[in-house]
Amino acid sequence: MPEFIIQRPTWAEIDLDNLTFNFQSVRQFINKDIRFMAVVKADAYGHGSIECSKRLEAEGIDWLGVAMPEEGVELRQAGIRVPILCLGSFSAGQELTLLENNLTTVIYQIENAALLDAASLRSGVITNIHVKIDTGMGRIGVRVEDVREFAKELKRFSNVKVEGLMTHFAAADNLKENEFTNGQIRKFYEAVAVFRDKGFDPIYIDLANSPGAVAHPGSLGNMVRLGGILYGLGGDVLPKDIETPHLKPVLSLRTRIAHIKNVRRNETLGYGRTFKSERDSLIATIPIGYKDGYSRSLSNRGRAILNGHFVPVVGRISMDWTLLDVTDLPNSKIGDEVILIGVQNGLQISAEDIAAELGTISYEVTCSIDRRVPKFYNGKA
Ligand SMILES: *Cc1c(COP(=O)(O)O)cnc(C)c1O
Repeated sequence: MPEFIIQRPTWAEIDLDNLTFNFQSVRQFINKDIRFMAVVKADAYGHGSIECSKRLEAEGIDWLGVAMPEEGVELRQAGIRVPILCLGSFSAGQELTLLENNLTTVIYQIENAALLDAASLRSGVITNIHVKIDTGMGRIGVRVEDVREFAKELKRFSNVKVEGLMTHFAAADNLKENEFTNGQIRKFYEAVAVFRDKGFDPIYIDLANSPGAVAHPGSLGNMVRLGGILYGLGGDVLPKDIETPHLKPVLSLRTRIAHIKNVRRNETLGYGRTFKSERDSLIATIPIGYKDGYSRSLSNRGRAILNGHFVPVVGRISMDWTLLDVTDLPNSKIGDEVILIGVQNGLQISAEDIAAELGTISYEVTCSIDRRVPKFYNGKA
């Protein structure tokens, strides 16, 4: 953290060189002449979408993927020029936002195709769209049984053009579901054939997310859409026991001891008095809480790294504060750096470790880091 910024000492460090490393590592692992979309929705899974996108753009990424037009506008306003796909389509009324910001959208409802067609006609342009097929995720997309009818109806619109066809895997991370995943691949290519049969000539054919791209070589199409593994979050979304690309974590979460005190044996600490000291103890208070994204469910369970050692979280995590039992590190003092996610002295706490403790995946852990936690980027964006 730069010394000249005076603020509450809780911050995230984003290692853009590791982002680059992961992109190159995955590209070499796949080793095929395909295109790469970096999925930077949700503020790049909490890593900062503008800075990550700028770095990826400089590294030659072909596309960026966002959830919604609002996220794409933010990137355009930051000067990012690579193609951007709105993976979740758009809401009625956002057509001009798409056109004015040169954002490409996913389409899976004929109503949205009609809205975009009309807006494009009024603006005198032909707008590319990517049609999403629901081959088994069951979330958004044209149902496979409706593909023929959908393709036929799209023919009515002369101001939208199908530039891509895509689908999304439900369980590509689970090799026990290979039959289901292969079924999704088969259904998708049947849909592609229907579109071609109707005279469409899509450029992009994409299916794979991170686990698809790593574990299902038959799903690469001619573009892959990578989120998690670019951020080094492979640990809980890639199948175990297969060859995977080498990945490095991009994010670390840090703070500094704000207060420290001796407490007697048998004192209770924090809301609900859920912790009682079993010995005379040295207790450090750190300025991070559940608002910052350090989940309250880690109360009495989480751990941190302090001066090269693990120290346990004690008592309830509150909105702004967390307590650490540092009795075994008696030289601890106010201002000492504390790592909640990161590596020090050969010790590591990964987002995956925290996710496992919480019964979720690492994506939710990094996405939960709040805006009030400033981010510092090492390596030039
Ligand atoms: C989020 C998302 C991805 C990226 O998934 P990862 O598992 O993070 O690689 C790819 N495609 C779509 C449609 C998505 O919504």
